[in-house]
Amino acid sequence: MSETPVAFTEQDYAARMYRAAREAAAAGLAGLLVTPGPDLIWLCGYRPTAGTERLTLLVLTADSEPRLLVPALELPDAEAAPGAGALRMSAWQDGQDPYAAAAGLLRPHGHYGVSDATWALHLLGLQEALPLTTYRPLTTALPMLRAVKDAHEVARLAAAGAAADAAYQEILSIRFAGRRERDVAADLARSLLAHGHSQVDFTVVGSGPNGANPHHEAGDRIITVGDMVVLDFGGLKDGYGSDTTRTVHVGEPTDEERQVHEIVRAAQQAAFEAVHPDVPCQEIDRVARAVIEDAGYGEYFAHRTGHGIGVTTHEPPYLVAGEQRPLAPGMCFSIEPGVYLPDRFGVRIEDIVTCTEEGGRRLNTTPHEMAIVA
Ligand code: ZN
Ligand code: ZN
Ligand code: ZN
Repeated sequence: MSETPVAFTEQDYAARMYRAAREAAAAGLAGLLVTPGPDLIWLCGYRPTAGTERLTLLVLTADSEPRLLVPALELPDAEAAPGAGALRMSAWQDGQDPYAAAAGLLRPHGHYGVSDATWALHLLGLQEALPLTTYRPLTTALPMLRAVKDAHEVARLAAAGAAADAAYQEILSIRFAGRRERDVAADLARSLLAHGHSQVDFTVVGSGPNGANPHHEAGDRIITVGDMVVLDFGGLKDGYGSDTTRTVHVGEPTDEERQVHEIVRAAQQAAFEAVHPDVPCQEIDRVARAVIEDAGYGEYFAHRTGHGIGVTTHEPPYLVAGEQRPLAPGMCFSIEPGVYLPDRFGVRIEDIVTCTEEGGRRLNTTPHEMAIVA
């Protein structure tokens, strides 16, 4: 079945931390402070198994080696992380003040980037220990830190995409009519896990009018013949994300349903063809939107065209009006235009695409034609 991916080495993690510290300095920051979550996993491979009310803090600065402060009882776990050899670790004991321990690693007047998901508990603790420090969220300070993937990361994203594609192919042969959305969603989740996902993040099954709500997940509605059904699903496989959408129809579609589906397909294709290094992110959104607007459905495409994907399923770069940063080789993102007709039906088609020197390469390769299901 699925192959074991190439393992990230201590050198890979050391290089990521070195680059992050350099980019932080270039952005005018004293350093980066990272607590458990996707940034910590990406930077040093460490994912604490315990809860996070005890402070774990990675400190990256341009003028010293990476430091990891951990609760003493979690030190063995931290030392087993694949990037541990590139870190200098220190531990704090229960009963000690972890923020005082962290303060010893920070500059009293420093302006730091802090990982987005850092608990308020910890950030407020740091601010109390060092009242003159200031902070910016990592996504604001260094939005593109994780955006460009190396070849091994792209390979993992491609494998996750292939697994999601296999799940889609399987779902086409199951019965839709007469079953609840949540039953089809459960089938999708099972299939993703069977194809090597460790975690399912979402399984949208939006049938009929529910498909017109882009945020609908899956509910008790019984799917019937004549329904359009939006299927949007993904999760993590070997630490990297999948996220794909196809819109299927139960039985024969109407001419209007076929037409709307074709407009969305054309928008997705045009946006894909616009992918090229140095093209601003917002241009991909503009191209997709222009196709839908020209067809008269502009007001029914109410969300951005895409988002980055990596160790999370939603991250920069965002393909949205106003995002002028350019695409670069190695960036991986969704292209997912849609049309949502209130109280009637919705259509969305989504592939993960990676930008190469030659243009876009799809990491989802199932057909875009509307599949007819039973
Ligand atoms: Zn229909
Ligand atoms: Zn999606
Ligand atoms: Zn998506």
